Order: sequence, then structure tokens, then C-alpha cells
Amino acid sequence: MTNSTKIVIVGAGPAGLACAIVLARAGRQVVVREWKDPVGHRFHDDFQGLENWTRELDVLEELAAAGITADFDHHSFDRGTVFGPSGHRYAVKGRRPLFSLLRRGSGQGKLDAALLAQASAAGVEVRFGDREKTFADVGVLAAGPLEAGVIAAGHVFETDMPDGAWPALGDDVAPGGYAYLLVQGGRGTVASCMFTGFRDQARHVRAAEEFFRAHAGLEMRNARGFGGYGAYRWPRSAMQGVHPVIGEHAGFQDALAGFGIRHAIRSGVLAAECLLTGNDYVARWKSELGPLLEAGIVNRWLFGLGGEAGMRIASRKLATGDAGGVLRRAYDLITFRRLALPLARRRYRKALEDLSCSHVDCDCVWYLHGDHGSAGANEKAGETV
Ligand SMILES: Cc1cc2nc3c(=O)[nH]c(=O)nc-3n(C[C@H](O)[C@H](O)[C@H](O)COP(=O)(O)OP(=O)(O)OC[C@H]3O[C@@H](n4cnc5c(N)ncnc54)[C@H](O)[C@@H]3O)c2cc1C
Repeated sequence: MTNSTKIVIVGAGPAGLACAIVLARAGRQVVVREWKDPVGHRFHDDFQGLENWTRELDVLEELAAAGITADFDHHSFDRGTVFGPSGHRYAVKGRRPLFSLLRRGSGQGKLDAALLAQASAAGVEVRFGDREKTFADVGVLAAGPLEAGVIAAGHVFETDMPDGAWPALGDDVAPGGYAYLLVQGGRGTVASCMFTGFRDQARHVRAAEEFFRAHAGLEMRNARGFGGYGAYRWPRSAMQGVHPVIGEHAGFQDALAGFGIRHAIRSGVLAAECLLTGNDYVARWKSELGPLLEAGIVNRWLFGLGGEAGMRIASRKLATGDAGGVLRRAYDLITFRRLALPLARRRYRKALEDLSCSHVDCDCVWYLHGDHGSAGANEKAGETV
């Protein structure tokens, strides 16, 4: 690749746009090809959290260091109320913000629209309604989740409730996951984030909303339904042929709680830096994101094993002292988690399996595309490029 080589990025989500911004600011010619129109079409004005607990470095400083301006509407939350499975409430507080609340979608002030504006200002050409099927260019794949390992569904609404964040644990409100109520400035989002039981999603959403009505005073006006899906995976290499794969397309999402925005942006930045410097992208994501993803897999396994008693212990622990510190330590790949990792991987083998093609000349965006004939048939998980 020379300095004048055009770089194509498939997908205008946070991963693809972050990658484009870094490349364009370094003087490269960048085209982002986005299937749908407008930006952020997967989202519906819902509130999401940019987590600030998996690293020592503050998430907004991490963005700034990569040259990404936090000029989207965001509000730092350093506290909230966690509900245990029996409805017991635990007040939690962090020494620094636990997360930044932001909105997703295409309108002004939303994360997606803000990243698009930064990319355009840096000279990136973004083509909407441009679905990439085969990929012969120099570039990066950032096409988002390819299957549903976790779903979230609920309502966005207007309200007179005070600002706040209320997560709730329990299989009735969110099997294998958690329900959440987020309110800021007269707007709210309530949802059930489920890791199993997708067929009964309407019942779980109803249960979550009834729970928050009874325990947190949920009041909704002009409520609109929304939903979406995501995928966590352990990628073999996060390379498709010669192309780096970033964000949820690679499966970069926390297996415990489904947080993916920070990993998406960070992997986009890493891929851009590697394209600029010639460094090895696989080595970079494995050393930086790998331990966090692995700790998330072990945490998912522990969450499943612990049942309601485990949820109560975890909620109590979060409420004693600095909740951010407790969460940060949960993502340290300490000896115990390293030892537990093979068991956790085996338990979630199906969900974590990377079915993407590892043929070195693969030029296909959709990873379940078949094979390349006898010489390049899809290799099975476990083999490397
Ligand atoms: C309801 C919901 C709530 C969530 N809440 C949180 C949260 O609170 N905190 C958090 O951190 N994460 C959350 N997540 C996860 C987070 O939204 C994702 O991890 C993040 O958006 C992933 O970014 P991405 O750029 O990898 O993919 P995406 O945002 O999915 O972007 C990928 C883009 O690629 C495009 N595309 C796909 N195929 C093609 C193609 N062939 N050609 C061209 N373009 C293509 C798509 O149209 C899409 O615009 C949530 C997810 C959902 C669904």
C-alpha cells in the first residue's frame, strides 16, 4: 500500500467511522461504503452507555488520544441503582464516571451522526445505499454483527422522571442478561437485554417495564418500540483474507453485558494505525482487546453458574465502595480467570465459534459465503490464516 492508495471501509458504524477518521486525518484517501441510509439506521434514538470501567484510561481521554472529538451529546453517570433478582435495591457509585450516556441514530447530537460529521470534515467520502458484496480493494471490514447472540428490546419515550440509571437482574425481566432504565433530560429508554429466551421477548419486555413501574416509578409518554441484536465471538484472527475486521463484525463485544461501542471504536483505531505503520493488526488487538474479551467470556460463565445467589452477591459487592473499581477488577485476566477460561470457552463454544473464512484470498464481505473450491475451502475454527 502506498500513501496514495485508496482505502475502502465497509460499514459506517462507530468502528468503520473511527477507522476512517484516523486514516483521513493521516492524509489517506478513504471511502466508506454503507449499505443503508441514513447513518445509525440500526438504532432508534435509544440511550446507550459508553462504558468507562474496563480500562484504567478514561474512555473520553481514549477517544481524544485517537483524535476523535466527543462532540456528540453525552452525560457522565457516576452512580445508579442496581436491582437484584428479588427487587432489592443497591445504590452504586463510582469514584469517576461509570459510563457516558449517549444516543444512537441519525439525528443531530447522536454518536453516529457526530462521527459521520467528523469523518466528512476529515475528507472521508461516505457512500450510502452502497452494499459491498465482494471486496477486492485495500481496506477494512466493519459491517456490524452477522448473527444474533444477544438481543435488546423495549421503548424510547418522553417522561417527567428525574435523570437516572437503573439496571435490574433476574431471568424474568431479562433471561441471561439484565433490564435497564435510563433517563436523561426528559427522555428515557427502557429495555430487556436478553442472552437467551428470545422467543419470549415480548413477555420479558412487559415484565421489565412492570418491574420498573413498580420499583423505579417508570412513566412513559409517546413511547415508541425499538429493538436490535448483537454478537460476541472469539475471532480466530479478525482478518478476512487480507482485510482487517473490526467492531462487531469481528465479534468484538463484551460477552457478559453486550457492551460493544468502546471495542468497536478502539478496534477501528487499531486497524487504522496498523495500516498506517505496517504493524500487525492481529497482534495489536490480541494484546489490547484480547484479555478484556477473555475476561468477559469468563464473567459470562460465572454469571450463568452463580444464578440468583451470584447476582445478589455481585450487586452487593458493587454497592460497597467504588463500583468502577469493582468492575475494572472483574476485567483483569488474573490467574483464576486464566484457569477458568478453557471451561468458559467450552460452555459457550457455539456462541463464540468463528465461522468466517480464513482463506488468504477471501474477498467476500458476508462470511458464511461457502468456499473457494477444493483448494480454498472454508477452514474449520481453530486453524489460523
Ligand atoms: C439495542 C442495543 C443496545 C445496545 N446498547 C449498548 C450499550 O449501551 N453500550 C455499548 O457499548 N454497546 C451497546 N450495544 C452494542 C453497540 O451498539 C455495538 O457494539 C456497536 O454499534 C458496534 O459498532 P460497529 O461499527 O461494529 O457495527 P454497527 O454499528 O452495526 O455498524 C455496521 C454498519 O455496517 C453496515 N453494513 C453491513 N453490511 C454491509 C455491507 N455488505 N456493505 C456496506 N455496509 C454494510 C450496516 O448497515 C451498519 O451501518 C447495543 C446494541 C443494541 C442493538
